[in-house]
Amino acid sequence: MAVQYSRGLHEVAEGCWAWFEPPGSWGLSNSGLVKIGAELLVIDTQNDVGRARDLRGAAVEIGGEDAITTVVNTHNDGDHWFGNMFFEDARIIATTAAANAMRTLPIDPRRLAEVGRAGTALQRWSHWRAEIFDYECWRPVFPAETFDGTLKLADGAVTLHEVGPAHTLGDAIVHVPDANVVFSGDILFHRATPIVWAGPVSNYVAACDAVLALEPAVVVPGHGPVATADGVRETRNYLVHLLEHTTRCVAAGVPPEQAYRRFDPGEYRLWPHASRAFQSILAIYAEFRPELVSLSWEESMEIVLADDAS
Ligand SMILES: [Zn+2]
Repeated sequence: MAVQYSRGLHEVAEGCWAWFEPPGSWGLSNSGLVKIGAELLVIDTQNDVGRARDLRGAAVEIGGEDAITTVVNTHNDGDHWFGNMFFEDARIIATTAAANAMRTLPIDPRRLAEVGRAGTALQRWSHWRAEIFDYECWRPVFPAETFDGTLKLADGAVTLHEVGPAHTLGDAIVHVPDANVVFSGDILFHRATPIVWAGPVSNYVAACDAVLALEPAVVVPGHGPVATADGVRETRNYLVHLLEHTTRCVAAGVPPEQAYRRFDPGEYRLWPHASRAFQSILAIYAEFRPELVSLSWEESMEIVLADDAS
């Protein structure tokens, strides 16, 4: 079925819905709902108070006030779990690695406007985020239940597969076999440039392969419109291309910033957020030549954001 990429809830298969937040750029993520009997599973809880409240409202309209029994956070990026406070009465699950990373809370969203020095692209970015996301009365609610490897829910009606470290330290995907749907979290940024916070990139490629091995008819990405396996293949191809280029640069002793300036994304050059490649290239250098990586998070994000024309 054709699924419009517009804000709100859209049925993508029998008993499966995607919640979209176009245009899917920084922090504007998707969520999912799966109906299992009379119960509802929520996948990722949105980035802020307003969006989480809207998502909960839409879920209650489908299943009723008591239907939301289980929540899965696919990884530790805030746009996938900051809304947990609206689902506190449910069983909230993440991988052990993701749950541990959440507790470090590298950026407290209530203090977002303080991130970045005056006049920097990072400061413009954090101010933009502080304006469009609402963290008034926000508080962190961490997953109470963790798993490693795989976890079956509702007698196998849903299976969680840990595929990280890839995009982040503890990525998971959610498979609904009867509906032939995978909720991929940020293993897929559909029709946009992926970003590798953790890596290794080879494991991110393997995570794409893990999604493809399930032969899904529908993939709900972490950001962007609904996809099929083709969207996952494109991201896989991009990552392999990036890895090949960067591996050559690593072998030649080229500094990471030059490796980034020389990178041609080829057929993927029109994807938004092309400059995310810099962060991903740094992740590859951190794996093979860590002595060549000297930038702080603020310094590397400054390059990513200053070049981000999207
Ligand atoms: Zn995300």
